[in-house]
Amino acid sequence: MHEAAYEVCEMNARYVTFEPSEESLAPAINGAEALGIAGLNVTIPFKERVAEIVETDPLADRIGAVNTVDFDGTPIGYNTDAIGILRAFEHHDVELTGSAVVLGAGGAGRAAAFALADEGLSVHIANRTVERAETLANDVPNASSGGLTDLEDRLSTADILVNATSVGMESDETPIPKTALHRDLAVLDAVYTPIETRLLRDARSVGATTIDGAWMLLFQGVEAFEIWTDLDAPIDVMNRALRDSL
Ligand code: NAP
Repeated sequence: MHEAAYEVCEMNARYVTFEPSEESLAPAINGAEALGIAGLNVTIPFKERVAEIVETDPLADRIGAVNTVDFDGTPIGYNTDAIGILRAFEHHDVELTGSAVVLGAGGAGRAAAFALADEGLSVHIANRTVERAETLANDVPNASSGGLTDLEDRLSTADILVNATSVGMESDETPIPKTALHRDLAVLDAVYTPIETRLLRDARSVGATTIDGAWMLLFQGVEAFEIWTDLDAPIDVMNRALRDSL
């Protein structure tokens, strides 16, 4: 999707991948800057370590994870996963008010919880390992926490549901029974393999608004493109390229 954007914007640029070792992470980032590389995306397992290596913007600092580095001046780390979630909801005309349930307390769960809480929603974080949800809820304003079971009551009054667990990835499992879903929910699944997860199928069948994980993936990339280039991203072109590749 990035190279499709460069092409349509007539930029002489490439998006390439590197796989540094744990030990060479800091020299790799310094080396990228020294080589005049415009920016980096960072993925698992390095998002937390990079947040300690470069200066972070306030949101990435609070999340404690960086997925985008901009080398324009002092290297700054951003978390566009969080912004991507908000932009995915906005793109689907979902009003971000009321209450949200975030399933998962890993990297994607942290990004979702902070992003939604910063929009003023009350956020309930539900995770298989309850202690991890509690730890996250202590950091996120206006958040509560619990396990993945017995969510029916909480979901019955919720406006937003985000699945940020890996349940449903490459499988037909769902983290939430269909009976807990209702038509007033907007459901975003961070999982994008498959594009239509069982959770989204169930949500659609009860009349809920559904947003697949490719939208989150798209908008974290759109945001990164805009940080690196200071241009408006060609969203439709990037979306088509991304979906063609999934
Ligand atoms: P992570 O940090 O490893 O966290 C994984 C989360 O899934 C944890 O909350 C974990 O719970 C939970 N989990 C794993 N297996 C489970 C199971 N069998 N039952 C219940 N909960 C389970 O991973 P992540 O980076 O947050 O990614 C989570 C998902 O989001 C992945 O599918 C990833 O591909 C997707 N993602 C998508 C985007 C996007 O742009 N669309 C971006 C980032 C991630 P415990 O704490 O109990 O282990």
